[in-house]
Amino acid sequence: MRNVLAFGAGAGGALAIAAGAAFVTTSVTVAVGRSIISARKKKTGITCGVCSGERRVSCKLCKGKAVIDWSPFPNAMVKRYCLCPTCGGKQLQKCLNCLGKGYV
Ligand SMILES: [Zn+2]
Ligand SMILES: [Zn+2]
Repeated sequence: MRNVLAFGAGAGGALAIAAGAAFVTTSVTVAVGRSIISARKKKTGITCGVCSGERRVSCKLCKGKAVIDWSPFPNAMVKRYCLCPTCGGKQLQKCLNCLGKGYV
């Protein structure tokens, strides 16, 4: 009886290890494949002329001020400054030419 139990535990453990190894192998393969693809693209890609490879450009909506003059009334006396919705106050926005990759 003890032998049967031990065998069962052993087989289960081996299965778990095999499943774990398969999972790890798959993740590594996928990661390596992805890095190879991006490396290839980087090699053949040309540095983006719009952002000069910086991947981000000055926000066009707020012109790098992080806030925009916004008022619900066109001739309002008081100007309201709103946090720029495009860059969220970061003053930079993703380069749309290279889609934030830095190369095209
Ligand atoms: Zn760019
Ligand atoms: Zn902005």
